[in-house]
Amino acid sequence: MGDKKDIKSLPLELLEEELVSAGERAFRARQMYEWMHVKLARGFDQMTNLSRAFREECGRKYHYTALRTVRVQESALDGTRKFLFELSDGNLVESVWMKYRYGNSVCISSQVGCRMGCRFCASALNGLERNLLPSEMLDQIYAISLFTGERVSNVVVMGTGEPLDNYGNLLTFLRMLTDANGLHIGQRNVTVSTCGLVPEMRRLADEGLQITLALSLHAVTDEKRKKLMPVAQRYRIAELMEACRYYFERTGRRITFEYSLAGGVNDTKEDAMGLVRLAGPLHCHVNLIPVNPVKELSYVQPEAPGIREFQNILEKNKINGTIRREMGRDIDGACGQLRRRHMSAVQDMGGDKEC
Ligand code: SAH
Repeated sequence: MGDKKDIKSLPLELLEEELVSAGERAFRARQMYEWMHVKLARGFDQMTNLSRAFREECGRKYHYTALRTVRVQESALDGTRKFLFELSDGNLVESVWMKYRYGNSVCISSQVGCRMGCRFCASALNGLERNLLPSEMLDQIYAISLFTGERVSNVVVMGTGEPLDNYGNLLTFLRMLTDANGLHIGQRNVTVSTCGLVPEMRRLADEGLQITLALSLHAVTDEKRKKLMPVAQRYRIAELMEACRYYFERTGRRITFEYSLAGGVNDTKEDAMGLVRLAGPLHCHVNLIPVNPVKELSYVQPEAPGIREFQNILEKNKINGTIRREMGRDIDGACGQLRRRHMSAVQDMGGDKEC
């Protein structure tokens, strides 16, 4: 990208300012915004109602984010598709497209790698490379809509990265994604998942958005959580619950707890009862995710009866808990695994990036 301005990361007001200060009329900005964020043009050359001279000038002046699709894997089990994209600097990110009864959902990455270091997560293995720009988050969705030819109705920021560790870019992305001048995804159909960065959770509560916040809890005592998630050294569960309450008070949106079940680690009856005590007062929904085994890591799923028993305890205590259907198990389900496998395959092939 060099030092060229990233035009697809500019919200409409800023695009207007940018073009007007370069001597263009404001309606040009609207036209261009529509090309980028509604018609999903892959470059300036497609913007046929803008003059050729103007398009060429834009090409010289601005960077235009259009992710290159490196690989698409489709699950034979449920039609889930996993996409591997290349960014303009050669970094790779992955996204997942899932078909549900209520519509199509896309799970996007918010960073290249992650620095949160959760012990069971493939994305954390190599640390953080860099933050994604708003345009790079948006374009995961745009590229997938173009590829599938279907409308995306839900977006979850649950791929690689900690979204609240890339706060400014995430906010711009959320506003542009839900903007009536763009794809106009309903705010209530957008979920942001966090490992629990308390100050940013509180800040997000004050943004006046109606998005769903999901908290990756995974353990019900600080002691156990610290073993699974280094971020638990920084924030205690009590502080997290306070931040959740604040989010609910400010937005009226119920929090979702994510709880990845690992056999012999966090799957006892005491754990389930602990979860009841935390989720009950906040009226949280709980997503139970049988841990996805990662080659380099030692966690395993509990036996199926154990998972159901865990869910039964929640239900008996009036906690709404769903066992997350494991979409795309046959195609490297867990976050970061496709990218990882691709990168090590590429290394084995002597650094060649094509496949
Ligand atoms: N950083 C954010 C979002 C990315 S991870 C967060 O922590 O919420 C999305 C979810 O998948 C999180 O709940 C994460 O803890 C979980 N996850 C990561 N690796 C997993 C694995 N191997 N098995 C099950 N869940 C996993």
